[in-house]
Amino acid sequence: MPRCKYCNELKPPSECFQDPNYKSNQYCSEEHWKLHIKSKNATQTVDTSKNKAKPKSDRVKLTDYIQSIWPVEPNWKWMSKQIENLSKETGLSYNDMRMTLKYCIEYKGFEPDGNYGLQQFIPRYSKEADDFADDIRRIQSGLDGIDFEDELVKVPVGKRRVRRPLKEDVEF
Ligand SMILES: [Zn+2]
Repeated sequence: MPRCKYCNELKPPSECFQDPNYKSNQYCSEEHWKLHIKSKNATQTVDTSKNKAKPKSDRVKLTDYIQSIWPVEPNWKWMSKQIENLSKETGLSYNDMRMTLKYCIEYKGFEPDGNYGLQQFIPRYSKEADDFADDIRRIQSGLDGIDFEDELVKVPVGKRRVRRPLKEDVEF
């Protein structure tokens, strides 16, 4: 049964409104088709304006993330040295490091200890974080490949919602 791209409601095909431009997109009503287009355009506008600004480098994304999670103002001289050393010693990219941190903080619920450096997480949890991202990727590609059926949808929705913040991690 098709699912409305806007509100996620399941509807029998006969009652659906089909996007005239994208035949695979179904909506519960013409109104939701219009709303979906509108919301998509709104997001695109925001994205374009963002893209005009210089895109952040992976390293800046990493340091921004550290800044946002660290309980005290990080000592950047020390932190930068750690980042470079860890990257040399472990071969992890800046994105790998950021993903390890995200996994530890947002999924495992760890809190960084301001007295210690990045080593409290990296590379200790990097392998685990990588495996976790692989699982998510597999789940996502699996779900994309399935033509949604009612019972299949019912089960994973709750689970997927919990993991949603990590979707970003996978699509760096
Ligand atoms: Zn709808």
